[in-house]
Amino acid sequence: MAADHPSLLSRRTLLIAGAAALVAGCGSEGPRKEVPPATAGGTGFWYTVQPGDELAGIATRARVSSSDIVVVNSLGSLALVPGQRLWIPGVQGFASAAPASAPGEPAAEAVVEAAGGYQLVPRSAWAREPVKGNNNPMGKVLRLTVHHTGEHAGLVGLPDVEVIQRIEHYHRSPKPSGRGWACIGYHYLVGKDGRVYEGRPAQYQGAHVSGANENNLGISVIGDFMNHLPSPVQLAALTAFVADMQQKYQVSARRVHGHRDLGRSECPGDRLYAWLRGKGFAGKA
Ligand SMILES: [Zn+2]
Repeated sequence: MAADHPSLLSRRTLLIAGAAALVAGCGSEGPRKEVPPATAGGTGFWYTVQPGDELAGIATRARVSSSDIVVVNSLGSLALVPGQRLWIPGVQGFASAAPASAPGEPAAEAVVEAAGGYQLVPRSAWAREPVKGNNNPMGKVLRLTVHHTGEHAGLVGLPDVEVIQRIEHYHRSPKPSGRGWACIGYHYLVGKDGRVYEGRPAQYQGAHVSGANENNLGISVIGDFMNHLPSPVQLAALTAFVADMQQKYQVSARRVHGHRDLGRSECPGDRLYAWLRGKGFAGKA
């Protein structure tokens, strides 16, 4: 998959919108009606600028790009005036609990110490948008499938949260630029940081093995494991998490698969697949 950067409007669009606002002689007064500006499409919300607000800060809190806010509000100036109304496009409110943590790091208070001996980061700690409605119920979990996220230009070296956000963006974006799914296809992702991140809530059927998603919990290990194994901390988290899910759903070792067991794929990479086999997992379906 190609994990594209969230759609940034082109510099040209930005300049044209800015010029139009300047010609109109009004850059700071936003519309006052409770309807989106004509330039907006779909979701968004109105925000009233508070003293001390800066565009970049508002964009960060809403997890949208500054340029999207500039364009949709036809701002002729980046200087905001308290009381000015801005349409924040694409989201329904500010992201919950502005985390006091480094970019790409989940807020410390969001991380749950799971009884199974690993740290769990709930979807609410990283997701920008709710799950869309186009999904099926999972029903009973009968098997687990281990994946790797694979090697993709643009993902290498990014913090786990950013990798997950980019995969989600790709999976939920409409075709043809994305997959048009309800949200990220995997139920859980095991981070390079040794944490387990909740992806698609487990009550929904996943989108991770073509033709075999029914009753199948998808677990993806962040990285590419064709030529090397995950780090010891990542493997430890995977081990603890798989054991916990086996117990929770009463899944035997022979129902813990590598993606390649169920479909034509190199996933989860030769090295990780061999490791799974060594643990007694990954039998053919
Ligand atoms: Zn896979």
